[in-house]
Amino acid sequence: MLVDVALPYRLAGTLTYEFDSSTKAVPGLRVVVPLGNRKVIGCLLGEAKGPTPKGLRRIEKVLDETPLLTIHQLKLLTWASRYYFTPIGEVLRHLLPPGLFGKEKKVGRKGKPFQTHDEFEPAMSVDLNSEQKEIIRRIRDQSPGPFLLQGVTGSGKTEIYIDLAREEVEKGNQVLILVPEISLTPQLIGRFQKALGISITPYHSRLTPAQRLASWLTVREKRGSIVVGTRSAIFLPFVQLKLIVVDEEHDPSYKQEERFCYNARDLALWRGKEEGARILLGSATPSLESLHRTRIGKMTLLQLTSRPEGTTLPQVKLIDRRLSGNGILSNDLQAAIAENLRRGEQSLIFLNRRGFAPFFLCRSCGLIPRCQGCEISLAYHKKEGKLVCHYCDASEKVPASCPRCHSSAFSPKGVGTEKIEEELKEKYPKARIERLDRDTSAGEGLWKILSRMKKKEIDILVGTQTVGKGHDYPDLTLVGVVDADTAMNLPDFRAAERTFQLITQVSGRSGRGEKPGQVFVQTFFPDHPGLLAARDHDGKLFIDAELAVRQVAGYPPYCRLIRIVLSGQDEKKVASSIRMLSEKVSRVHRILGPAPCPLSKIRGKSRWHLLIKSQEFLKLHSRLQPILDGFSQNELPSGVRMLVNVDPVEMM
Ligand code: ADP
Ligand code: ZN
Ligand code: ZN
Repeated sequence: MLVDVALPYRLAGTLTYEFDSSTKAVPGLRVVVPLGNRKVIGCLLGEAKGPTPKGLRRIEKVLDETPLLTIHQLKLLTWASRYYFTPIGEVLRHLLPPGLFGKEKKVGRKGKPFQTHDEFEPAMSVDLNSEQKEIIRRIRDQSPGPFLLQGVTGSGKTEIYIDLAREEVEKGNQVLILVPEISLTPQLIGRFQKALGISITPYHSRLTPAQRLASWLTVREKRGSIVVGTRSAIFLPFVQLKLIVVDEEHDPSYKQEERFCYNARDLALWRGKEEGARILLGSATPSLESLHRTRIGKMTLLQLTSRPEGTTLPQVKLIDRRLSGNGILSNDLQAAIAENLRRGEQSLIFLNRRGFAPFFLCRSCGLIPRCQGCEISLAYHKKEGKLVCHYCDASEKVPASCPRCHSSAFSPKGVGTEKIEEELKEKYPKARIERLDRDTSAGEGLWKILSRMKKKEIDILVGTQTVGKGHDYPDLTLVGVVDADTAMNLPDFRAAERTFQLITQVSGRSGRGEKPGQVFVQTFFPDHPGLLAARDHDGKLFIDAELAVRQVAGYPPYCRLIRIVLSGQDEKKVASSIRMLSEKVSRVHRILGPAPCPLSKIRGKSRWHLLIKSQEFLKLHSRLQPILDGFSQNELPSGVRMLVNVDPVEMM
């Protein structure tokens, strides 16, 4: 008998082998097969459909008694590989925890489940208000969805997730709760454990390989379980999945932008439909894609319009930086911080830029030090005394004078979180100030800062995007946005949408408890419609206008995009091969480009891209498949890599 086997490598497709074991060839079994002069472990997919290959070899060993991968996973494997134009082996790597394809190891059935909070108290729940109850009723009556729950920040969406999850667990079903950030998992796990009195399974990349394997096996075997995880949890081997929640569904972190460019939210929609699970997307600021889906009847819109009784939305003030002087923190914001300190309430200062300063500048000759490999300016990190590239992490010591003209008028320019932290510490020497960004969150740093924040051992938290999302600190009453303009001017058609989402979300961290909250947003563009909408907690007009712009300009959600990036050391080779590819693609469809990417070089590799827009996506997809297969197998020169990105989020 001939069977197809997927190997966890970047091969174009599956390989065919002869199978003559006494075991039945059940899809999902791990098998040992020869590849060149090596022996590797692959996954048996089923009986081969293609022709018998020359030099057919045979499967040497079957490693499992029962299939390791579930039927649902295998379906997801083939579908996602095709949909995202990604080699099946690359997708396969995402379906398994580390270790199971390296060695000929039997899967132990005694993996101990990993728990983050052992000391959770028994069940305790809030009384849902009538709006929340009505939404739950509609979801129950109208299964399986999909549903989009649009509820202002702090309106009690999480309580709805908890209630729906409880019902499934009682029936012995499984539940998946996706969050965009690892930092949000402990808080959510804590809330679920407290409310339901059962242990929750975490899944994200901060777990050790052994912990990840334990979670993986729990999901494979245990009914009535709940997983809280980041995007990769969508690939877990659920056996009885009946509810998928995608919290903060608008968040760009659900999209992976390298190797296998999947979007976990979109895979959740597909997987939920396949497996008959209810799908609930939730957000205070839903993506235009999801809102559009509700308008054309593909998804049901549910709305929570206010925060629970006793709490209100924070008051948001836009501060015009043209009028607020040269200081990093405007007078209004400083006064509010001082007042908050006096009252003993917590403050959050947000700036989406880590390091001390975004660049160094020679005031004599104008030199700005740049990364050799990426050609972008190096950020200054004062504590380390280094200039660091935020794309490739390359770093160098800060030169004492300008490397070009030797002037000593060589100094940092602009503001990053490290500088804000320093300034706040000077101004408020008694306050307990912490910074949360990629530089402080390594290892245990992240958990320590989050837990100190929760225990009210921090007065002022300074941070980048991690702090802006989903967190629920009842005593946090002041949010300061140092620079609201960082996302606004990027060459990306979603720039306005992102600005609105970012500012609404970070503002929403304020005043979630009984004490009212306030927010100060510093900007050079106080008339920006996204900022006005965030200030007024009313996105409707902004969204409608933004949708109209997209429709006229022909951008998602009114069409679909496929972005293809070629990259390599030799710029000429990259440019000539993308021209060749463009020529082939343009025979079946109109394209935009090719052109150098906005980030034209990363890690020494030149990058070019082209964009395909389509209103008939399935037709385009099937026409594109043979072109891309042929191109990558026959024409792509060595040293040039091709990345196909379906429904791209990152346009840089
Ligand atoms: P969201 O997920 O929409 O941001 P949360 O579910 O985190 O909102 O709710 C915000 C805060 O309000 C939480 O501290 C939560 O416990 C509380 N809360 C939610 N629903 C209710 C309710 N019906 N009654 C009282 N408090 C509630
Ligand atoms: Zn100089
Ligand atoms: Zn670099």
